[in-house]
Amino acid sequence: MRKVVKFGGSSLASAEQFKKVGNIIHADAERKFVVPSAPGKRDADDTKVTDMLYECYDLAESGKNFKEQLQAIKTRYQEIIDGLALKLSLDEEFKTIEKNLKEKAGRDYAASRGEYLNGIIMAAYLGFEFVDAAEVIRFDEHGEFDSETTNKLMRERLSHLKAAVIPGFYGAKEDGTVKTFSRGGSDITGSIVARAVKADVYENWTDVSGFLVADPRIIYKPEPISTITYKELRELAYMGASVLHEDAIFPVRREGIPINIRNTNAPEDEGTWIVESTCQKPKYVITGIAGKKGFCAVNIEKDSMNSEVGFGRKVLQVFEDSGISFEHVPSGIDTMTVFVHQDEFMHKEQKVVSGIHRLADPDTIEIEADLALIAVVGRGMKSTRGTAGRIFSALAHSNVNVKMIDQGSSELNIIIGVANADFETAIKAIYDIFVLCQL
Ligand code: ASP
Repeated sequence: MRKVVKFGGSSLASAEQFKKVGNIIHADAERKFVVPSAPGKRDADDTKVTDMLYECYDLAESGKNFKEQLQAIKTRYQEIIDGLALKLSLDEEFKTIEKNLKEKAGRDYAASRGEYLNGIIMAAYLGFEFVDAAEVIRFDEHGEFDSETTNKLMRERLSHLKAAVIPGFYGAKEDGTVKTFSRGGSDITGSIVARAVKADVYENWTDVSGFLVADPRIIYKPEPISTITYKELRELAYMGASVLHEDAIFPVRREGIPINIRNTNAPEDEGTWIVESTCQKPKYVITGIAGKKGFCAVNIEKDSMNSEVGFGRKVLQVFEDSGISFEHVPSGIDTMTVFVHQDEFMHKEQKVVSGIHRLADPDTIEIEADLALIAVVGRGMKSTRGTAGRIFSALAHSNVNVKMIDQGSSELNIIIGVANADFETAIKAIYDIFVLCQL
């Protein structure tokens, strides 16, 4: 067995956390490839090293002095080194970083140093080889991640090593310019490494014991999810369930490698398994509920629109021309509604309205703001009758008015639109009917 283990920022925020990570790695000889994040928050009021680095970059860019801010970062690393009793000096590294920041080496370069330095410490602590991600993770000249070149480089480099630490979050273009993924991107690095070494499992260690059926800020102590499919996860992650970066499943999915979300602070917990497919029945009909506020519905009416060939295309063309992506488009005989993100749409609304009039000649256009979308996701829905019925009667009993319903033919999810103000009530009602009533 070969395992790739990725540790998030809170798992590596201090020497104490590093020690827990060391114990986890030493407890299993199969944990050979380690992907660290930068040190995260030690408590709620703390600042992540990545954010401290962005601050240094902003100061450097505007020609201001950033010595004090850089020193604060150095102190954080020094505390970890001292706490682990390592004989390691980062002096030279910090000199290089200071010089490069003065020479405006770029925002991504600045941010990437958090993982880079943590990787050096982790490698020294474990006695593993350090592999700079800039050598093995490749972005093309437009800054797009080049998955195939990366896979080749990574596979070749790691094939000679028994154990290695590869820092998360960044890679480089062919000319050496450092480029990062979006925030939380170390999850993607872990997945890339798992694919390259054909790992049996990608363990993603964080500060929660896996995915929960619903957001704990809305539901008191929600039930954990033990197994979830990649597809279900995509749906939930897209709708705001944020344990794992939403792009992290792509590399492992190509090889069918399962991801196991684990808790560094409770390593005995089994966590959540993310798999391609499973015959394990979910505990409840639904696997999870997630949602987001802040949507707008653009309701377009035209008599007999359904029989007018090309009407939908013309309407969507206007959204495309305005650079707005749409979320859902439920339609009827005389109406079509386009759901969009309110903050993206707000500044362009009049342009869109006149554009639709010009191109599609509708009778009326109405805009409704402050809506929320809720996704009820579950592979179990396919084989269960009455799921939609239960959802809507639960919402009706809680006095929630449903504005929109969208169920794809895959029967993996049902999307419901409600007013922002009803968001929490709706989630509670759905959770209660599927989880609490079944406990
Ligand atoms: N350190 C980066 C961030 O804070 C990347 C990561 O932790 O995955 O977003």
